[in-house]
Amino acid sequence: MGSNIVVLGAGVSGLTTALTLAKNGGHKITIVAKHMPGDYDIEYASPWAGANSLPVAKQGTPSEGYERTTWPELEKLARDVPEAGIHFQDTRVYRRTKDANSPVGDWFAELVKEEPWFKDLLPNFRKVPGSELPPGMDGASAFTSVCINTALYLPYLTSQCLKLGVVVRRGIVNHISEAASLHHSGKPADLIVNCTGLGSLRLGGVDDKNLYPGRGQIVVVRNDPGVMASTSGTDDGPDEACYIMQRAAGGGTILGGCLQKDNWESQPDPSLANRIMKRAVELCPQLVPEGKGAEGLSVIRHGVGLRPMRNGGIRIERETIAGPGGRKVAVVHNYGHGGYGYQTSFGCSQAAEKLVNEALQQKARL
Ligand code: FAD
Repeated sequence: MGSNIVVLGAGVSGLTTALTLAKNGGHKITIVAKHMPGDYDIEYASPWAGANSLPVAKQGTPSEGYERTTWPELEKLARDVPEAGIHFQDTRVYRRTKDANSPVGDWFAELVKEEPWFKDLLPNFRKVPGSELPPGMDGASAFTSVCINTALYLPYLTSQCLKLGVVVRRGIVNHISEAASLHHSGKPADLIVNCTGLGSLRLGGVDDKNLYPGRGQIVVVRNDPGVMASTSGTDDGPDEACYIMQRAAGGGTILGGCLQKDNWESQPDPSLANRIMKRAVELCPQLVPEGKGAEGLSVIRHGVGLRPMRNGGIRIERETIAGPGGRKVAVVHNYGHGGYGYQTSFGCSQAAEKLVNEALQQKARL
């Protein structure tokens, strides 16, 4: 007999967790969320992501495990499931020694190592010879990764959930315990999975002050870069980044970006947008016709998303939370995925599923 589960949140974390539970557990699952695939909102990080899989977890941390477990799943989708909107990309990551210890340099520290832990995980890993380095770069590696068209992938995940009988509905909760009354059966949920991302900063019963926004600004263009590229930093400020990735199936090319700590601004900054475009063309001149600069880019739109960063890393934990009326509810958290929510999605969902099963078994024994 399956249990009644409410998954709160319909970003990549909530959808992947619901799908994992629906595939393996035979539970009756309701996804409840304020924002759904198709929405573009500053409170909803998932649609704004590039998204690619460039491992950034420090070796030996739980996040390394999440990235290791997720890669084969993304690889399988790129190889065998065209409707998921994921494709393989030749990838280059460039290192500048001077970026060490800057916010972007720290974020990419593992990614740009000469011998990173993922060198045997992602296919075709090799060191790029000095003769192939663009000016100003001190080193680079090349490998094969994927780029996800989030405008196709989030609806794809939703469809997979619907196919397995998951019910998806809108709802806003002020206190996590309220989610227990939103199960589609009309009965109280046995367990809530909390996948509210940055929302957990102010969600009653959770109020996780370790969360903070890591603002990312992007430009989506029609131009073809021919390669997926990132650098460890830029000369325009320690929290500005340069990355380029073409989404699958006509999704356009994402030019980024930045990692602005504690910045909640939802509107694109036009001068930052100009710097993003200029840097992208400098790193990848083949983006534009020969002799052209940033004016050779064909802009689809500008965007801003807030990465749900968390001191202490991703939170996958179980606890029992009492609602304002004193009623206790079992909760499994899966939030705080920073700038790596897609590339850790399957690993985190499997870790959350393990805790769901433990909590339900404990409940059954009581
Ligand atoms: P969200 O997508 O924010 O979803 C939260 C959900 O919870 C929403 O449905 C929301 O409505 C709901 N919710 C919140 N509070 C409540 C409430 N009180 N009541 C009801 N519902 C609620 N990651 C990668 O892996 N690769 C990348 O290349 C990449 N690039 C990125 C680039 C940018 C510019 C940004 C901003 C992020 C990027 N990321 C990338 C990170 C990734 O987007 C996030 O880690 C991921 O989307 C987080 O997903 P989530 O489901 O946890 O949160």
